[in-house]
Amino acid sequence: MKILWAPWRMKYIEEAQKGGSECFICKAYRSESPEESLVLYRDENVIILMNKYPYNTGHLLVAPRRHVPSYEELTEEELCALNMAVKKSLRLLREVLKPDGFNIGVNLGRVAGAGLEDHLHIHVVPRWNGDTNFMPVIAETKVLPEALEDTYKKLLKKASLLRENP
Ligand SMILES: [Zn+2]
Repeated sequence: MKILWAPWRMKYIEEAQKGGSECFICKAYRSESPEESLVLYRDENVIILMNKYPYNTGHLLVAPRRHVPSYEELTEEELCALNMAVKKSLRLLREVLKPDGFNIGVNLGRVAGAGLEDHLHIHVVPRWNGDTNFMPVIAETKVLPEALEDTYKKLLKKASLLRENP
């Protein structure tokens, strides 16, 4: 597999993630137990959470608080907050997981591969040298919850990095 950003794969993954009709991002935003939704950060504009069906270790989703499908609907303040949240996510992942690179991507609309097309979200995926060989395997295999939990705990310990303004 040479292309990481395979839309058909994302659709499969995100449909599994939706788990019913309720938007999982809004649900995570409102959740009283953010740990269960693997939330790392929430404020009045954005939410950062782990993807439960990750391409790779540390796959994060960065989304506006508001349930909107596209960039056109965001205010300048929200756009700014969203981009700052991506920046902070990169900083957190770099510090904790020490990746060699990242993929950052957005799928707008079902035809582009968005499984959850009503709530804009940015994928931030850490990459390591040599990880391409096992990527297709982990993308199609259920990731062990323990591994996901471990990564979540590691990231949560340094989540103060998401609150500071870099
Ligand atoms: Zn939503």
